[in-house]
Amino acid sequence: ASGARVPALVIGTGYGGSVAALRLAQAGVDVHMIEMGMAWDTPGPDGKIFCSTLEPDHRSYWLRTRTKAPLNYFLGFPIDRNISRYTGILDAEDFSGITVYQGRGVGGGSLVNGGMAVTPKRENFAAVLPSVNADEMYNVYYPRANAGLGVGTIDPAWFDSTPCYQYSRVGRKHAQRSGFPFVFVPDVYDWDYMKQEAAGTAPKSALAGEILYGNNHGKKSLQKTYIAQARATGKVTISPLHKVTSVAPAAGGGYTVVIDQLNTNGDTAATKTVIADRVFFAAGSVGTSKLLVKLKATGALPHLNDEVGKGWGDNGNVMCGRANHLWDPTGKLQSTIPCSGIDNWAAGGAFAEVAPLPTGIETYASFYLSITKNPHRAQFSWNAATGQVDLNWQTAWKQPSIDMAKSIFDKINAKEGTIYRTDLFGVYKIWGDHLTYHPLGGAVLNKATDNYGRLTAYPGLYVIDGSLIPGNTSVNPFVTITALAERNIEKIIATDL
Ligand code: FAD
Repeated sequence: ASGARVPALVIGTGYGGSVAALRLAQAGVDVHMIEMGMAWDTPGPDGKIFCSTLEPDHRSYWLRTRTKAPLNYFLGFPIDRNISRYTGILDAEDFSGITVYQGRGVGGGSLVNGGMAVTPKRENFAAVLPSVNADEMYNVYYPRANAGLGVGTIDPAWFDSTPCYQYSRVGRKHAQRSGFPFVFVPDVYDWDYMKQEAAGTAPKSALAGEILYGNNHGKKSLQKTYIAQARATGKVTISPLHKVTSVAPAAGGGYTVVIDQLNTNGDTAATKTVIADRVFFAAGSVGTSKLLVKLKATGALPHLNDEVGKGWGDNGNVMCGRANHLWDPTGKLQSTIPCSGIDNWAAGGAFAEVAPLPTGIETYASFYLSITKNPHRAQFSWNAATGQVDLNWQTAWKQPSIDMAKSIFDKINAKEGTIYRTDLFGVYKIWGDHLTYHPLGGAVLNKATDNYGRLTAYPGLYVIDGSLIPGNTSVNPFVTITALAERNIEKIIATDL
């Protein structure tokens, strides 16, 4: 309620926010979580909470009147369609030069993502988080995060036999024939449940093409893991459809937090003010960066340091498809949950996931999301004229990512006598270089904050999400975001409370 005073307020309910809420609650602190997206706990008229990927409706996108599918063409035809404007689950947020996909709702990115739960190789960690003790991370916090998230790996025997991973087996064959290491990628999807889907004994989600707009079954999103545990403490409350717009020091101590209550059109229905002793920024790399840059520039938090807004990267995301020969079908039933990748990080700067194209028809295509060692970093800045926060990323900055991905796929194409698909991202366009799923940075650890996420100019303000990570994790990011949050909140609870 407006005017309330809370000991700890968490902005956002993704990985960082959920870890903070659970551990604070276990330490005896009452926590209030503020989430701009919906609760996603109530079925719609079709009996399902989430809409399907092939039939997106109003639930699919955050305040758009037309879908903006990451893979927006097929056989040269655009596949986007009109939808009614609604506080849907996937935000395709446009900045100059890049579209940043993010989850909106209680659970943040865990609602929409592929669940790939990858711990970086130890030898790459110093480049991921240079100021963090690797021994502690690999001995304590990565294991804690993997346990909390419910990470598992596919049964290799089932992998070898199930039709729904034929596309991955084709990916393995092609990778190995070109001499690349093929690796299984862990995931938070319930692998036993997926076997039941395949056997026809449970309602289908991964095998019904569900991804991007939520999974109705099988995926252990944060709602089922950290947030469920946090709620069970009885000390955590969550306000969905509430968006934080300001945080500023309060006269009597603590911070005044201004919050807009939204309706499902995205309009402000009410504005509330709460006083919080401590505020945890967990609005995601983009959300936290936008808030901090605006609050510094507009005088609410003028003493934030000059690193705020800097060091943002796209985790080197780039996508592409290859056209296989007719004797190499990838299968018309494809699990939406990727389970494998091609590791050419050390030699070529690319880690490519073998991704599904769950169209329900045989496509003879192999599809990949590559994570690459892209060196470019962008900066968020306040635009007083528009009242918005801009990001100065340039589309041309994806070229190093394309070159690194080509270190894998040019070689495979040469070996297999195959070519790139040119019909997936436009008319004659090979590379999906217009987007990222993995925004990272903007409030970098040990630069914008101290080495535990404290915004030291303002005691009681913390950053605890992907904005702490300086732009690249060498693999998919959420396990690292979770592990870093576990590390930081443990220190904060031990020393600051
Ligand atoms: P988020 O999870 O983004 O959570 C931030 C939350 O804050 C959101 O719920 C947001 O609505 C809310 N918020 C923002 N601003 C405000 C505000 N002002 N007031 C209130 N609430 C606010 N990563 C992997 O590791 N593996 C994958 O397989 C994978 N697949 C992906 C697929 C897709 C389609 C997408 C979009 C992402 C994927 N990711 C994947 C990335 C991963 O989901 C993110 O890295 C992760 O969710 C970031 O965690 P976070 O805690 O930093 O923020």
